[in-house]
Amino acid sequence: MTQIFAYIPFSNGVAEDIAQEYPTAAGKIDESASLTAIVTGSGADLDKVANDMTSIYSQVIKVDHADLGYPNAEVVRKALVNIIPSDAIFLVAHNTFGMDLGPGLSVKMDSAYAADIVDFEGIDGTTLKAVRQELGGAVSTHVTVDISSGAVLTVRPGSFAPVEKGSAGGSVVDKSSDAGDLSTKRKFLEIVAAEVGDVDITKSDVLVSVGRGIEDEDNIDIAQELAEAMNAVVSCSRPIVDAKWLEKSRQVGTSGQTVKPKVYMAMGISGSFQHLGGIKGNPFIVAVNKNPKAPIFQVADVGIVEDILDFMPELTEAINDL
Ligand SMILES: Cc1cc2nc3c(=O)[nH]c(=O)nc-3n(C[C@H](O)[C@H](O)[C@H](O)COP(=O)(O)OP(=O)(O)OC[C@H]3O[C@@H](n4cnc5c(N)ncnc54)[C@H](O)[C@@H]3O)c2cc1C
Repeated sequence: MTQIFAYIPFSNGVAEDIAQEYPTAAGKIDESASLTAIVTGSGADLDKVANDMTSIYSQVIKVDHADLGYPNAEVVRKALVNIIPSDAIFLVAHNTFGMDLGPGLSVKMDSAYAADIVDFEGIDGTTLKAVRQELGGAVSTHVTVDISSGAVLTVRPGSFAPVEKGSAGGSVVDKSSDAGDLSTKRKFLEIVAAEVGDVDITKSDVLVSVGRGIEDEDNIDIAQELAEAMNAVVSCSRPIVDAKWLEKSRQVGTSGQTVKPKVYMAMGISGSFQHLGGIKGNPFIVAVNKNPKAPIFQVADVGIVEDILDFMPELTEAINDL
């Protein structure tokens, strides 16, 4: 039987959304596979997450060690090679941590590696079919992975439908004593919190988010006027911060802020996975883009093919006339 292990990332005692997405991914790999969640960390937060996962997974492994208190991929890798069977399929989120953990883990386990998977198309013998995206999501690439000696697969957060938390009736197995020697060359020192800036985009229910489609620094005012009309806050994609048109604290994405608004207005944003990775909580996404093939339309609830420099002032005027 296919054995699948899913690594659960968490912070402050709360599992990331992908914890509810792995079961769908695992079902698409092999409906009859056994699926086990793995949670590593230390102390009360770890226990809280491990217990929480029993509502989704029938089997949960926890590994508790002081050195795992911060998710240093080098430490986690050492623990996992002692715990995961070498012929198993291991799933981890395709984020900074997963990209750090995955390649080295597959080398240590002598198993296959495939990154940034957005869909699975099942197993044929010892061949797993997976789908990735390339060119910023413009094309899908279908790949095969030889899983005869196991596989480490990073999966893109938000690509698989989340399952409801229910009564999986799972139990937690403590494998802390199997972790082995966790001494590493790379040490965690401290977390330096990102500057909050003049506004905190993580607290806003409505974000008017601008991307490179805004074209010019002076046009940021057009987005600001729309945001004021909507009682919203302006956020942005990374190129806008790189151009120094808005401060870093306004950047949404994997190397920026994680936001959970109710409504996300994506204005001239293509929809890279690094940008989408910062949007959580399943908001209502309105995307406006000149390019009908922009990947943002794949995740948008409402997609409008239009020039934002025409659309935004018109919408502002319409709202102000209400
Ligand atoms: C390690 C790493 C981390 C990263 N972290 C982040 C991150 O945290 N956040 C982030 O956003 N990016 C991040 N990126 C960058 C990311 O890969 C993309 O390059 C970026 O998100 C693209 O921003 P964009 O959509 O604004 O620009 P583009 O991809 O250039 O898209 C601009 C869009 O605007 C449309 N457009 C142009 N003019 C108009 C107009 N007048 N009206 C309407 N539409 C128009 C175009 O059709 C296009 O779709 C990261 C990249 C790396 C490598």
